[in-house]
Amino acid sequence: MSTNAPRGIALPMAPRTPAEYIPGQQEAPVALTSLADMLKWAQNYARSRSIWPLGYGLACCAIEMMAAGQSHYDMARFGSEVFRSSPRQADLMIVAGTVSTKMGPRLVRLWEQMADPKWVISMGQCATSGGEFYDSYYTVQGVDTIVPVDVYVPGCPPRPEALIEGLLKLREKIEKQGLKIKGEE
Ligand code: SF4
Repeated sequence: MSTNAPRGIALPMAPRTPAEYIPGQQEAPVALTSLADMLKWAQNYARSRSIWPLGYGLACCAIEMMAAGQSHYDMARFGSEVFRSSPRQADLMIVAGTVSTKMGPRLVRLWEQMADPKWVISMGQCATSGGEFYDSYYTVQGVDTIVPVDVYVPGCPPRPEALIEGLLKLREKIEKQGLKIKGEE
């Protein structure tokens, strides 16, 4: 059968009754969407491909975070090599290291100064749960007790590959979020 359809565009097959179906043969898939969904997809896609982290390291985990930004691991492949010196220019706080109780309020202040939408990765056991300083009087027992955490990266220290995996998980999460940003009604 010859058609005048442009090459590469599959024509939908004529509707058939259930009795006419051959196993494995279905109509061409059809995707339905709305303008709002397309805008949401485009916005989240752009955001997820240009996450700029705050240049903020607290302890030994920060060395691995720095390694992830260097040429061997090359976080630039995922659009996140631009570590910003100001929280006002950053989307992502990577809590890389032990959070002392003295540093806690400063960490919260930096997080508050970041513009929405913003995200937090807890890198390493110390940031996630206190780690080897568990139950100590001078360490915050999990940074999620003071700021909301989006992704946890386990390890002591996590290798740069693990941090990059965390970044890719965050990318997936951003792709699925809605149009509204945190704090909007
Ligand atoms: S998790 Fe391990 S490597 Fe990371 S800051 Fe704590 S002690 Fe250091």
